[in-house]
Amino acid sequence: MLSIRVPATISSSSTLFFTNSKKLSNKFSYISNPLNNSSKPIKWNCKNSRMESSKSSFVTKASAQPLTNPAELIDSVETFIFDCDGVIWKGDKLIDGVPETLDLLREKGKRLVFVTNNSTKSRKQYGKKFETLGLSVNEEEIFASSFAAAAYLKSIDFPKDKKVYVVGEDGILKELELAGIQYLGGPEDGDKKIELKPGYMMEQDKDVGAVVVGFDRYFNYHKIQYATLCIRENPGCLFIATNRDAVTHLTDAQEWAGGGSMVGAILGSTKCEPLVVGKPSTFMMDYLADKFKIQKSQICMVGDRLDTDIVFGQNGGCKTLLVLSGVTSLSMLQDPNNSTQPDFYANKISDFLSIKAAAV
Ligand SMILES: [Mg+2]
Repeated sequence: MLSIRVPATISSSSTLFFTNSKKLSNKFSYISNPLNNSSKPIKWNCKNSRMESSKSSFVTKASAQPLTNPAELIDSVETFIFDCDGVIWKGDKLIDGVPETLDLLREKGKRLVFVTNNSTKSRKQYGKKFETLGLSVNEEEIFASSFAAAAYLKSIDFPKDKKVYVVGEDGILKELELAGIQYLGGPEDGDKKIELKPGYMMEQDKDVGAVVVGFDRYFNYHKIQYATLCIRENPGCLFIATNRDAVTHLTDAQEWAGGGSMVGAILGSTKCEPLVVGKPSTFMMDYLADKFKIQKSQICMVGDRLDTDIVFGQNGGCKTLLVLSGVTSLSMLQDPNNSTQPDFYANKISDFLSIKAAAV
């Protein structure tokens, strides 16, 4: 039996090898791909080999400080990474002061990057959303977890003859297509029903080498069973989650069950921990630091969630700014039970504009 260790949350410090394989990727050495490494069928007990602690490496810091000197923060970094939901927009509504703030940071020569755990759209589709909201953002500046899933599979040289079963929406399919990776499932399985009658069984495609699970409004029992069969019965099949967010802002009126609910269902039936490619995993941070040749200490991560955005920034060694325009309130930040403290907090990103007022 091969000795395989797979992290629940990919971290740059996790360099993993099969006992009989070489490291697969020069750029990203997160995990060896079982599908490339043996001519024999690999039997692995996912329960024993894949269950790792899902706890992120929380960094306990001194209490967050209110952002009283935004100019100092702006001058101390060269790149700002923004989460989108709760920072740039809420549902389909732009948050006050965002266009002016982004313009100000660009005027100051800062690189802006937008990272979202929402996998329902591809980078191209997000580009359209930014445009609709009147924001001028280049597709190259957008990193969605749909893209991260495809980029991860590319980074491990996912075999051309293997397929991905998708539990999720169009964004994942579009990114897999762009990466030249074969897939099945997705929205077209959305209205499939299971008719349980004596002797009935579902058969899965034996060529599925990875199941990618993201947020899915059309989640159903067919998808759960299909994904479960692939993970449990196809040797070496990977279980990849775009994110494990508990809730998300689908509308500006309330919080809705997030991608973590779909991932939780597949985890429940397989007892396998997923590989998470979205925040707070450092995969996307490492990817964009490599792409733009940025020092992580020269990045400020701006987000509205402690458990994803702020931990993502801290895991990457970046400065962190929590904005209170999304899911986290000041009382949640200051709750004695909360151990995740960003460097700074502000009401919303337009608090940066106070440097303009101060300069007048
Ligand atoms: Mg958010």
